[in-house]
Amino acid sequence: MTEQVAKRDIRQLSLEEIKDFFISIGEKPFRAKQVYEWLWKKSAKDFDQMTNLSLSTRELMKEAFEIKHIKVDTLQRSDDGTVKNAVKLHDDLIVESVLIPTDSRITACISSQVGCSLDCNFCATARLKRMRNLNPDEIYDQVVAIKDEAERFFERPLTNIVYMGMGEPLMNYQNVLKSIEKITSPEGLGMSPRRITLSTVGLPKMIKRMADEEVKFNLAVSLHSAIDETRSRMMPINDTSNLESLAESLLYWYKLTGRKVTFEYVVWKGINDDEAHARALAKYCLKIPSKVNLIEYNPIDEGEYEQADPGKIEMYERILKEKNVIVNIRRSRGKDIDAACGQLANKS
Ligand code: SAH
Repeated sequence: MTEQVAKRDIRQLSLEEIKDFFISIGEKPFRAKQVYEWLWKKSAKDFDQMTNLSLSTRELMKEAFEIKHIKVDTLQRSDDGTVKNAVKLHDDLIVESVLIPTDSRITACISSQVGCSLDCNFCATARLKRMRNLNPDEIYDQVVAIKDEAERFFERPLTNIVYMGMGEPLMNYQNVLKSIEKITSPEGLGMSPRRITLSTVGLPKMIKRMADEEVKFNLAVSLHSAIDETRSRMMPINDTSNLESLAESLLYWYKLTGRKVTFEYVVWKGINDDEAHARALAKYCLKIPSKVNLIEYNPIDEGEYEQADPGKIEMYERILKEKNVIVNIRRSRGKDIDAACGQLANKS
C-alpha cells in the first residue's frame, strides 16, 4: 500500500517558500509570483484556474499542495441592508463577519478570534470564551467574502475594514498584522491602511509595540468609562491595564504615528450616564489627541445593562463639545439579525 503524504496548505507559505518549491522542481522562480497572485489577489480556489502555468506544473502543485478557503456557511440580510456572514473555518469552527453599507461607505467588520478571552460583561462574544486565534488567511478571506458581496448586492466596492468582530485583535497580534499586510499589499487587495481600523479593549504593551512597528492603520479603543472603578466593573482587563497606563500608551502611539485615536463609548443607564462620567471622559480626551464615537447599546440579554436616555447622550455631547472634543453619535446597524456591535455570538 502506498502511504498518502499529507498535502500542505499552500496559503500558509510565503512567496519565498513558493519560490523554493519552484526551484526544487526545476521551474523558473518567477512563477512563484504568479501563483501568489492567484492565491491572494484573485483568491483562486483551484490550481486549474492558474492558466498561465503549464498543465504539468499544475499537476505537480496539486500533488504537493491543497488550497484552503473559509466558506460562508449562512448569510443573513437585515432590513437596513446590513449583511451578516457565518463563516466556517478550516476546522469547522464558526466566526461571524458583517457588511455595513452607508451612503458613502461599505465597511467590513471582521473577526480575529473564535470567541474571546476578555470578560467585558456587556458583550455577547465574551460568553463564548476564547477557542482559538484565526490564521492570517482566515482573516483575509472574511474580507474577500464581504468584498464580493459588496459587488454582488450593492454594485459598489468595499471601502473600509474594521477589526471589530469577534475577539481581541491585539491578543492575536502576529496574525492580525500579517492579515493587514496582505490586505494592503499590491499582491493582495491593495487597500490603503488608512481605511483599516483596529479596535482594542486597550492593551498598553501591544499599543506601544504597534507604534514602534510604525503601522499605518487607525486605532480605536473601547473605553466606555474614564473612571477606573466603573471601567473595571465592566471590563476586568482594566484591573491590570488601567486608564493611566492606557493613556500613557496612547500618547506614545500619537507621538510616533501622528494619528488620533478613536474612543468607542456606550452610555448606559445608571452606570455611566451622569455628569461626573461625562466630565471624566472630556478630561481624558484632552490629555490624548482623540475623538469619541458614542455608540448605541445593543442589548444582549435581560441583564443590568440598558441604553441611557437620549437626554443623557445629549448631555455627553454638550460637555464634550464645550471642551472642543470631536464627538459623533453612531446608530447601530443590523440589530434585527444580531449583527450589531457586541452581538456576535454564533446564535444561528
Ligand atoms: N475586542 C475589541 C473588538 C471587538 S468589540 C474591542 O474590545 O474593541 C467591538 C466594539 O463593540 C467594542 O467597542 C465593544 O466595546 C463594543 N460592544 C461590545 N458589546 C456591545 C454591545 N452589547 N452594544 C454595543 N457595543 C458593544
